[in-house]
Amino acid sequence: MKIAFIGLGNMGGPMALNLHKAGHEVRGVDLSAAACDKCRAEGLPIAPSAAAAVEGTDAVISMLPASQHVEALFLGADGLLGRLPAGTLLIDSSTIAAATSRKLAEAGDARGVAVLDAPVSGGTGGAVAGTLTFMVGGEAPVLERARPLLEKMGANIFHAGGAGAGQTAKICNNMLLGVLMIGTAEALALGVANGLDPQVLSEIMRRSSGGNWALEKYNPMPGVMQTAPAARGYAGGFGTDLMLKDLGLAQESATAVKAATPLGGLARNLYAAHSLAGHGALDFSSILRLVQPPPRKG
Ligand code: NAD
Repeated sequence: MKIAFIGLGNMGGPMALNLHKAGHEVRGVDLSAAACDKCRAEGLPIAPSAAAAVEGTDAVISMLPASQHVEALFLGADGLLGRLPAGTLLIDSSTIAAATSRKLAEAGDARGVAVLDAPVSGGTGGAVAGTLTFMVGGEAPVLERARPLLEKMGANIFHAGGAGAGQTAKICNNMLLGVLMIGTAEALALGVANGLDPQVLSEIMRRSSGGNWALEKYNPMPGVMQTAPAARGYAGGFGTDLMLKDLGLAQESATAVKAATPLGGLARNLYAAHSLAGHGALDFSSILRLVQPPPRKG
């Protein structure tokens, strides 16, 4: 299959490379020269523009930051959707508003382009390992067309429902993740300030009733887990500003249906404060810095 992959960032880069390594004819593209260079160095063919990337492709996959990027690329004046022939498969894996995904699906429908929203979970580690979880919104037969591609990038593929349903599942998951990360950081900071070894405390909680994904795979305390962003100064990973965006989407969804999400709201405000303090580009587990007391003197 010929695939255009648009957005080669922390997630899109390794996802495109996994499709390329699986033998698909992939052309990648990104606005960032650094992102393109990184993938090119690993053998991925890079197209000069998104328009050039989609020429003659069977499928287009996008992995962009937020709703406005997806709208501008596909639906804006001279939008890319207008260049796709009927029958093309369009998989958007960005985490965006469910309403935007539905808009894209409707516009695709009008042109005969089959659209899926397929946001992911599993972090950059999952993207590299090809073990992501896909939460898919769209028609079941279209998911079956997409499945062979999704299987090269992920280990779990869920059909959440119709257009936009993948996004709704994703923001529910990420609201929970945002809350869990803050709770985990708070508990670790408390124990360490009281003299506990962070490694020992992490292992105790991991195997006790407080055990969770952050303690298993993404410990926020530097020095505990060599594979986590905390071990590299919180570089790469899942940016604080991306988590802030997802928690904002969760609050918008909650408002629309009058749902009470008090912890999700508090988490959004804490990540907003962390971002305002200049940490928006750091991995979201750096929220530890917001709750960590300074070392005691003497
Ligand atoms: P990122 O910022 O690292 O990458 C996004 C890339 O999109 C950038 O390289 C940017 O230059 C590129 N881009 C933006 N507009 C473009 C355009 N018009 N054409 C081509 N390229 C364009 O972000 P990421 O961490 O890879 O996340 C991407 C999406 O996946 C986000 O919606 C995020 O919420 C979601 N997500 C991220 C993680 C994670 O752990 N990083 C996990 C799950 C989901």
